[in-house]
Amino acid sequence: MATLGNPTNTAAVLHRHGFHFQKKYGQNFLIDSNILEKIIDAAGIDQDDCVLEIGPGIGTMTQYLCENAREVVAVEIDKKLIPILEQDTLSAYDNITIINDDILKVDINAIVQERNNGKPIKVVANLPYYITTPIIMGLFESHVPLRSITIMVQKEVAERMQVGPGTKDYGALSLAVQYYARPEVMMTVSAGCFMPRPSVDSAVIKLTRHENPPVTVSDEKLMFDIIRASFNQRRKTLVNGLGNAAGLNLVKEQVSAALERMGLSSTIRGETLTLEEFARLADLLSTMPKR
Ligand code: SAM
Repeated sequence: MATLGNPTNTAAVLHRHGFHFQKKYGQNFLIDSNILEKIIDAAGIDQDDCVLEIGPGIGTMTQYLCENAREVVAVEIDKKLIPILEQDTLSAYDNITIINDDILKVDINAIVQERNNGKPIKVVANLPYYITTPIIMGLFESHVPLRSITIMVQKEVAERMQVGPGTKDYGALSLAVQYYARPEVMMTVSAGCFMPRPSVDSAVIKLTRHENPPVTVSDEKLMFDIIRASFNQRRKTLVNGLGNAAGLNLVKEQVSAALERMGLSSTIRGETLTLEEFARLADLLSTMPKR
């Protein structure tokens, strides 16, 4: 079968099926075979792997995945793409399962159980950019057994995932990704590698799941609630931001007392705290009486 990773073959498939791009689904299909090969290389896919692909589109990357992995599960929201995948571009493969659903609603743990006996899978995707963060957070927070996530995202979002404190891009996404995984930007990809061209540059980032998180914290959920509250009110001091945050049930005095125990100033902002410091803050606050 002719590879889809070029403009001529992609346009031919679209034309053959009378397919029109849906902007609301973030449809920008890869048309560069060089980039596709590099993504498969970066993901380190081999014949033992069960791979989850989010948003196969017309199956351009899926073909590479089917060639390299033992088994592929592809979840695609757009029902107009399903006959293209099933009857045309992926019809030659018997190691593919296509699911027509919204990835945010699918029970991925059940898929991993059924398809890979609950053993860790690899996720590979050219993500729809409008839901990048919920997809990544959903995969981590629902504790899907994962070895790695290799994804195309907006370049700025890739940068946000790997920066540390004291930079403007540092935020809740950086901390969450670094708690669960080791981020590594593998390559940047120009808008010309997609059809239609997106209005932003892109990057492929690989998130390799930590066996154990780099910090220990007694209440993981509380730590992430604190992190989110800190960055929701980025310009406020931690004492004011956390003291006012709905749902945390903290008073300013408790936050100042915890910061003092950590040897930190009570005028400090969340954007200067490391992951270790957020973990320690959560541990200290979890032992204080609720308001
Ligand atoms: N993988 C293809 C490629 O690289 O050419 C297509 C990538 S395109 C950027 C994103 C794909 O995700 C589209 O096919 C889109 O329809 C699909 N998609 C968008 N939202 C989705 C969702 N919530 N669940 C599953 N798929 C989704």
